[in-house]
Amino acid sequence: MFSKVLSFGIRGIEGFCVNVEADISDGMPVFELVGYLSGEVREARERVRTALRNCGYDFPVKRITLNLSPGNIRKQGTGYDLPMAMALLAAMGEIEADGLAGTMVIGELKLNGEVGRIDGVLPMVICARKSGIKRCIVPAGNAAEGAMVDGVDIIAVSDLKQAVDHLNGTALIKPYERKESPGNGTGKEGADLKYVRGQAMARRGLEIAACGMHNLLMVGAPGAGKSMLAKCLPTILPPLTGEEALEVSSVYSVAGLLGEDSELMDLRPFVSPHHTVTDIAMIGGGSYPRPGNISLAHRGVLFLDEMAEFSRYTLEALRQPLEDRKITINRNYGTYVYPADIMLVGAMNPCPCGAYPDIARCSCTETSRRKYMSRLSRPLLDRMDICVDVHRLGYEDMMSTGEAEPSSAVRERVIRTHRIQNERFAGSGILFNSQMDSKMLGRYCALSGEVRDWFAGVLKQMDISARGYGKILKVARTIADIDEREEIGREHLAEAVSFNNSQIMG
Ligand SMILES: [Zn+2]
Repeated sequence: MFSKVLSFGIRGIEGFCVNVEADISDGMPVFELVGYLSGEVREARERVRTALRNCGYDFPVKRITLNLSPGNIRKQGTGYDLPMAMALLAAMGEIEADGLAGTMVIGELKLNGEVGRIDGVLPMVICARKSGIKRCIVPAGNAAEGAMVDGVDIIAVSDLKQAVDHLNGTALIKPYERKESPGNGTGKEGADLKYVRGQAMARRGLEIAACGMHNLLMVGAPGAGKSMLAKCLPTILPPLTGEEALEVSSVYSVAGLLGEDSELMDLRPFVSPHHTVTDIAMIGGGSYPRPGNISLAHRGVLFLDEMAEFSRYTLEALRQPLEDRKITINRNYGTYVYPADIMLVGAMNPCPCGAYPDIARCSCTETSRRKYMSRLSRPLLDRMDICVDVHRLGYEDMMSTGEAEPSSAVRERVIRTHRIQNERFAGSGILFNSQMDSKMLGRYCALSGEVRDWFAGVLKQMDISARGYGKILKVARTIADIDEREEIGREHLAEAVSFNNSQIMG
């Protein structure tokens, strides 16, 4: 007897179809698994055999072959356990083949027949929808995640028997219903710009960075409020669009970070790894590739507090993905691509003791200060578009009562500016000013004669490199967009220059 069950695998953060075929024929009793399988998949043999027996089925003493196709893509993980068991049961005549048609099956099997959670269910269900599948049988622990996708019925099962009874129509399971969340889009942990006092320059830098999705570096004494400012970023960035939410949630699904009752993410991610993070944890990889912090921050913010304390190697590993907006990991059994379209935000002290430029309190030598700053390489610094000084609050700021402008008001300006950019770049493959290439710079950042002459003088005086020049133009474009001005004026350029890091880095 031959049977076939439809299942899915994961590569990067994309699902792909897998056909699980079972054949039972007379001959020497063997149980063979084929189809380019990793170790975990081959171990499924024992789990499936024991689970079937413990659920009361007589395991056939025949020649059994299970094949997972296509044979040219490596299969990993424990999610094929349940489809293998279903295919076997169908070949044994325990499940009616009609029930299996057009149904996707995924899940890990425990020895007692319970069905366990697996990673990556969300992108699998997205792939199922693309392939026109209307019904997915998934582990109960993954039901909420699967139900994030509209148009596919999610049948949640907690053990093998439930799945069999459902397919045979003896005990039908109702499709899982998604719990509607209010999706209020407010900040985590109560972060809000209304609690940030003073810091006019830093607030402005933060807003411009959010408007053009520019990378931001904050330099200032410990306790000046750098992390507080960074944490406000998700509250001033627009919420994720429906498509982005599926994409970001997919990364978390593959990383195994979506909880049982998780909802589709609507706030942009804010990921803040400790400075002892390894380069693999930062950019992703490992022998069984997984997304790293940079991909978990996709469409959001990667915040590196104490940026100078990160290992040089880890920081340098960020350069390529910042450029490509994705990570490509090559293994001899395949290539994995993880998205990494992020806004990089760094915070660091101005010197080892943290007191500079307060000469009276700073105990560092000029040499030690320069050495400290040089922990960030020039090429990495070149990628930080906006650099701001964050000063300790003066007494007047501390004692002032009343709240500052709230995040919600700033967010309105950010959303308006994003809209201007979305129209400008429609169909060009980019979304924001920070992503413009040199050709686009020429097209969208043309300066009038008088402004150009003035700018040339500034560049010469400040000894700014070609990359620095492009960076200033992009930031100026964003500032002009905030003003809703088509043309970049001198005031926009002057402000962009003031955020250039060559000043702070000396
Ligand atoms: Zn110092």
